Amino acid sequence: MEEEKLIIKGRIVDFPSRGEVREIKEGYIVVDDKGKIVRIGAGMPTAQDEVVDYTGMLILPGFVDIHSHIPQLDARGKYAKDLLDWLNRYIFREEKRFEEEAIAREVSGRFFEEVLRNGITTVMALSTVHKRATDIAFQEAEKAGLRAIIGKTMMDYNSPEFLKEDTDQALKDSIELIEKWHGKDGRLFYALTPRFAVTSTEELLRRTGEAARKYDVYIQTHLSESPGEVELVEMMFPSYRSYTDLYYRTGILGPRSVMAHSIHLLDEEFELLKKTETKVAHCPAANLFLHSGRMNLKKMEDYGITLGLGSDVGAGPYFSPFQLMRDMYYLNQLSPSEAFHYATLGGARALSLDDKIGTLEAGKEADFVVIDPSDLYPADESIDEILSQLMFRGDDRQIRATYVRGRRLYGK
Ligand SMILES: [Zn+2]
Repeated sequence: MEEEKLIIKGRIVDFPSRGEVREIKEGYIVVDDKGKIVRIGAGMPTAQDEVVDYTGMLILPGFVDIHSHIPQLDARGKYAKDLLDWLNRYIFREEKRFEEEAIAREVSGRFFEEVLRNGITTVMALSTVHKRATDIAFQEAEKAGLRAIIGKTMMDYNSPEFLKEDTDQALKDSIELIEKWHGKDGRLFYALTPRFAVTSTEELLRRTGEAARKYDVYIQTHLSESPGEVELVEMMFPSYRSYTDLYYRTGILGPRSVMAHSIHLLDEEFELLKKTETKVAHCPAANLFLHSGRMNLKKMEDYGITLGLGSDVGAGPYFSPFQLMRDMYYLNQLSPSEAFHYATLGGARALSLDDKIGTLEAGKEADFVVIDPSDLYPADESIDEILSQLMFRGDDRQIRATYVRGRRLYGK
């Protein structure tokens, strides 16, 4: 039996299914020396371990952000008329800067600080095309102590000369990074990352699918974000029935593949996502910012497609899961408890990590966030009212501490 190490006291809340709130009003979590949850209960255990008292505050599962971009941290909030305009005007140039190691290190470090400051304990993110910058991003994630799935962006076609790569080199670099980082410490994983169809050859997509199966890693990319992008993909790949069909027939879809956006889909494309158990990253803030359109949440749910929330920083101007849930509500009305489910267990399921994280229960790892909403509500309101006020008025200021495997990585 593992040694019990830490006892956390507070109002323990999680979201084990869509719309369900599980609450222990005055509860405790016992964490062992490996960072696993040993026990959860009401009242107070009799053990003599270190007690951290968050009485009056909420303890929730750590938030899971399943889509963002490390190099776009400082490019947030720059207006453009649509996705392609924004990429060409600001983003490709911003990503070029990451050929400099010092910039890659400074921005990556700050990116993970921001993530933790917002209560996020697991993040899936794209790096740039640079192998060295991606290696540095992994080093910074390792140092920060959180859970991260990262991939070097691959662009071998229709790209600015200063980012465009040779197909062989893009895959070779990615495989070397897989060998170095995938599975490290059980919390760092690799995602093969073709940027999107617009900057990919068919060969790159096919070889990405093959490599993902061979090395058993994730794939992350963008699917059907803006109307202009979809039109371009149809022109570039006329022999495929749709954008999703292109990904399907080149082997990009699958249970460990996460497609950001997935907005402008035909019924047959929903079918393909379902059939292949592909996951979707819903990025409401980015979709509003770039006026890309509205993902159809109801239809995703009706098809039984697993989805989580993504900040999509930098098209998304903020990391705060409260703000993302609010945007999600404005695009697709849903209850606060449903939104919190997507921001926690939904994301964990989308990343196939729900056996380890996403809810607070014995046997899972102790990834949680401490929320102090006392400036938003008078003491003793019902949990439904508190969640609603957090969703509609909350931001990073209510995050009091962020823990991964029982270790406090952020706190104030
Ligand atoms: Zn993105």
